[in-house]
Amino acid sequence: MVNNKGICKLCGKTSDIQLSHIIPAFVVKYQKSTSITGYIRNSKEPNLRQQDGEKYRLFCSNCEAIFSNVEKYFSETVFMPYHSGLLHTLNYDYRLGRFCACQALRKIIYNEAISEGANSFSSTLLKSLQKATKFLKDYVISEAKSQNEYANHLIFMDLIDNAMMDSHSLPDNINMYLTRTMDTAIVSSRSGKLFIYNKLCKIIILTFVVPKKPKYFEGTRVFGTGSITMSKRDIVLPFNFLRFLIDRANIHNEIKGKISDKQMAAIEKDFFANEDRVVGSEDTKAFLADERLRALGQL
Ligand SMILES: [Zn+2]
Repeated sequence: MVNNKGICKLCGKTSDIQLSHIIPAFVVKYQKSTSITGYIRNSKEPNLRQQDGEKYRLFCSNCEAIFSNVEKYFSETVFMPYHSGLLHTLNYDYRLGRFCACQALRKIIYNEAISEGANSFSSTLLKSLQKATKFLKDYVISEAKSQNEYANHLIFMDLIDNAMMDSHSLPDNINMYLTRTMDTAIVSSRSGKLFIYNKLCKIIILTFVVPKKPKYFEGTRVFGTGSITMSKRDIVLPFNFLRFLIDRANIHNEIKGKISDKQMAAIEKDFFANEDRVVGSEDTKAFLADERLRALGQL
């Protein structure tokens, strides 16, 4: 039998360490079931067709259960209803903020485990990130029902059919990126800001570390309890954040460019082998929306 004993990266106890998804399993499952080919590709190894999302041994089963409880809430209350077009008014409780904090913490711990990113931050930012990590670990373990002091923001994306901004700067995969990709990052800026970015298909979760409560984001903050009416959302996003999304979409385009010819042929084969999935798949909707923008001369 394989020995999976190790130290849990949340509670610090020695235990059997579970294999867990970096992106929640329900997101990976949804992505696969609504894609044309029924497979997903990992941005790090685009040439490998995967059945399952990226997994890593991080937590004991007790801690894994803390994460999965709030994931279940988010999946049933927010993610699935929104992606099915059935979410008109979201009435949420403290579990929404907990889910956001759990996602941020999972990303921080994962990056630590693979030693990624730490040396790209200034020492001041690194200290702030370490402080936030400690705070978030205590918050998550304690199963507190209060909100934590690092503000979580939730942004619901959808297809863009008529871009208002200078559209020449929009990448040609903007709709694919906004609605179909899973993407996570710890983002820092030269001006000394830092936040955790988790994009689960059409839903973006931001957890702010520096500053803890950002200005210029309006209508997106997650409170202890609240209500969001999808049709009456008054949202203000800073221009820099929109630029950031465009940059991420461009990075995804570059990754796509790295897929070998052999793999592209395999993707095309999948595409035609799954013709019944093509019509009406979420991939196709995003692709067509990008085509419409292009036709408007906007890309
Ligand atoms: Zn644990």
